[in-house]
Amino acid sequence: MSQRDRKTLVTGGAGFLGSHLCDRLIERGEDVLCVDNFFTGTKRNITRLLGNPRFELMRHDVTFPLYVEVDRIHNLACPASPVHYQHDPVQTTKTSVHGAINMLGLAKRVKARILQASTSEVYGDPEVHPQPESYWGRVNCIGPRSCYDEGKRCAETLFFDYQRQHGLDIKVVRIFNTYGPRMHPNDGRVVSNFIVQALRGEDVTLFGDGSQTRSFCYVDDLIEGMLRMMDSPNGFAGPVNLGNPGELTMQELAEKVLRATDSKSRLVKKPLPQDDPRQRKPDIALATEKLEWQPKVSLDDGLQETVAYFRRLLSE
Ligand code: NAD
Ligand code: UDP
Ligand code: UDP
Repeated sequence: MSQRDRKTLVTGGAGFLGSHLCDRLIERGEDVLCVDNFFTGTKRNITRLLGNPRFELMRHDVTFPLYVEVDRIHNLACPASPVHYQHDPVQTTKTSVHGAINMLGLAKRVKARILQASTSEVYGDPEVHPQPESYWGRVNCIGPRSCYDEGKRCAETLFFDYQRQHGLDIKVVRIFNTYGPRMHPNDGRVVSNFIVQALRGEDVTLFGDGSQTRSFCYVDDLIEGMLRMMDSPNGFAGPVNLGNPGELTMQELAEKVLRATDSKSRLVKKPLPQDDPRQRKPDIALATEKLEWQPKVSLDDGLQETVAYFRRLLSE
């Protein structure tokens, strides 16, 4: 089937990553059905697409069954920031687990290829560094992050069981911290928090001693990796890590953001949230081998784009 005849469902399509994915799918000529309950997503993210005849928006919660006819499914519906996923943790688990069951049931009925947006959180607070896909992870199953981590782990289990039990054509990507324009300004994630605080001249809140590490991938690179995985040959299901291996401490990130925004904000220390992973960095050898993918955008360039986005947003 050519891309022009293809109908693709994106759940969570009005969110940060989902809206960029919808843009790219429309650009390459696919028909896109965007499904979202607007918990953390917003119509603003997809305004540009609303008049496009190839784009359709449906308000729907994936924890309820969905009967539509599509060829491919990108399952992204799930709040991704700790502040939002901990707001209603039972709903977070339902979204990951019931949402996966419904989307897998849909994929089974219409024989669609289905991709799951999983996460580096399946590795928990890792003892293996950097994290390869073969590492099983170190996750607390009863802590405040568990609704997200265990929900996503269970979703992966369901994907592989639907593959084994029903022969579904599945793809699983484990996304590491990604940032860029259209992150929610109050979303609580570190890049958006630091930039918004710095631009407003408010204190920049560094949790713990700031020595914990993360590795940040620019959104355009991430979406390219997702599309390559969705287009990869039958039989390669993953899971495959997608992220930028450039690792830095949160203290270093805060200093970078202060420079990029030319801000006079102060850095203030706040308590480290429970179960906050000490370190995180993707091993992307598998993505490089199977998808010929690696990130291209440097953190400095990506931060510039993101700062410019938030400057515009805050001045409106
Ligand atoms: P986001 O919060 O901006 O987007 C999630 C979208 O899902 C929102 O539009 C939200 O309204 C929607 N949603 C939530 N619950 C829903 C439900 N029950 N039914 C329908 N829609 C629902 O987050 P994001 O950063 O765009 O993340 C997208 C996906 O990627 C998530 O599954 C997330 O777990 C995964 N991911 C993101 C990152 C990252 O760094 N951005 C890292 C790892 C994994
Ligand atoms: N489902 C859905 N859309 C469909 C087909 C199924 O939302 O087009 C849901 C359905 O409600 C069911 C779930 O997906 O609860 C799992 O479907 P499956 O066929 O795997 O299981 P069963 O229907 O036998 O429980
Ligand atoms: N963080 C921080 N200040 C903030 C928000 C987050 O220092 O205002 C830290 C947080 O404790 C974690 C890292 O930044 O160590 C990344 O947090 P985020 O919520 O963005 O993602 P995750 O913890 O899920 O990787």
